[in-house]
Amino acid sequence: MLVDLRRCIGCHACSVACKVEHGVPLGEFRMRVRWMERPDDGRMAFLPVFDGESCDYGRDRARFGLEPACVNACPTRALDLIEAKGAPAEAKPLERPGSTRADVLYLAHEPWQETKLNAGAALHPEDEDILYEQGPR
Ligand code: SF4
Repeated sequence: MLVDLRRCIGCHACSVACKVEHGVPLGEFRMRVRWMERPDDGRMAFLPVFDGESCDYGRDRARFGLEPACVNACPTRALDLIEAKGAPAEAKPLERPGSTRADVLYLAHEPWQETKLNAGAALHPEDEDILYEQGPR
């Protein structure tokens, strides 16, 4: 999976499409979008991540020539399932994948995002689950 973070607007269309396609229960995710505050100016940044255990990049859909539900739903074409050999040279995996599949390649990700991702507690509070997933607070 190639993720162009310059295009991601954090809309969650990908994670919602994934949940609908695969019937993923509340509170569980095969892929999700982490929201993070930039350390320099507090603006939000977004990092789609893919679960190494459950995400199979839409194998069932591929049998019918369809792209993964997340890719199909993304309004900005931030996601693309590509042949590894076709990846742009500047696309990189996270150094310590942890919360995402090791074969996800990111364009324009910055080191602080990975630090926050692995720290967990430093994520933006709204990131933990999208609101409709959380139910009453
Ligand atoms: S659908 Fe696309 S733009 Fe929206 S959060 Fe997912 S990757 Fe980002």
